Amino acid sequence: MVVSCRIVDEGSPDHGNIAPFLVERSLAPYTTREIELLGLRAHSVAEVWLDDLVVPAGARLGEGSGGLQAIGRILQRARCNMAVISTGICQRAYDLALDYAKQRKQFGRPIAGFQLVQEMLVSMLTELSIARQLSFRALTMLQEGEDATVESSIAKGWCTEAAVRVASTAIQVHGGIGLTVECEASKLFRDARMMTIPDGTTQLQTLIVGRAITGVSALK
Ligand SMILES: Cc1cc2nc3c(=O)[nH]c(=O)nc-3n(C[C@H](O)[C@H](O)[C@H](O)COP(=O)(O)OP(=O)(O)OC[C@H]3O[C@@H](n4cnc5c(N)ncnc54)[C@H](O)[C@@H]3O)c2cc1C
Repeated sequence: MVVSCRIVDEGSPDHGNIAPFLVERSLAPYTTREIELLGLRAHSVAEVWLDDLVVPAGARLGEGSGGLQAIGRILQRARCNMAVISTGICQRAYDLALDYAKQRKQFGRPIAGFQLVQEMLVSMLTELSIARQLSFRALTMLQEGEDATVESSIAKGWCTEAAVRVASTAIQVHGGIGLTVECEASKLFRDARMMTIPDGTTQLQTLIVGRAITGVSALK
């Protein structure tokens, strides 16, 4: 496990810096407790206790401010991953809703023929298309070795919130069956709801972009 912490050592030039440490359970035992979550149930998440934990000095990753820069790059990648997963949720939710709208008949014709159902489908496709573009832009910058602080935060903030909206609309297109646990749209909604908090909440992404464009931090 990688643990980032603030260094408190008043005699050291590192005092106050944040540094990552590689904590191996066999060398520095810590305790965990699995947590059951609303969605993403195939993904294991645990609460971690680091009481009185002692790690060897060699466990530190990077020297000086190098560790903090490494954390920044890891976070950019993590935010891109969240944006890409959210884009995948949008795609699946849209595909399911479109298929269902074409086969479900009411008043003697497929519900896909009703204007208000078409409006839901078009809004889903629009959100999906924007999510894909924002994810690709941030990922391309990372692949080319550029700093994607702003682009990864825009992608993470927008795509994860879009996934919640698109999955919710997919449930709406399905009508009552959409609210049952056996309908995949309801699973996508639970998964989408998981995306807006980890790796920095939507509000945090907004503050990161706001700081970058104004030069003023509203974080604290
Ligand atoms: C599935 C999952 C996996 C996770 N994995 C990891 C992991 O691997 N490593 C790890 O370290 N953590 C992990 N976390 C923790 C996650 O990073 C935090 O839950 C998240 O950063 C939010 O912090 P918090 O829960 O303390 O909420 P809080 O910080 O208490 O936020 C509560 C609300 O207040 C808002 N808020 C807080 N501060 C501000 C501010 N300055 N301005 C405006 N609004 C603000 C937030 O946006 C949010 O809406 C995980 C969480 C989940 C659910």
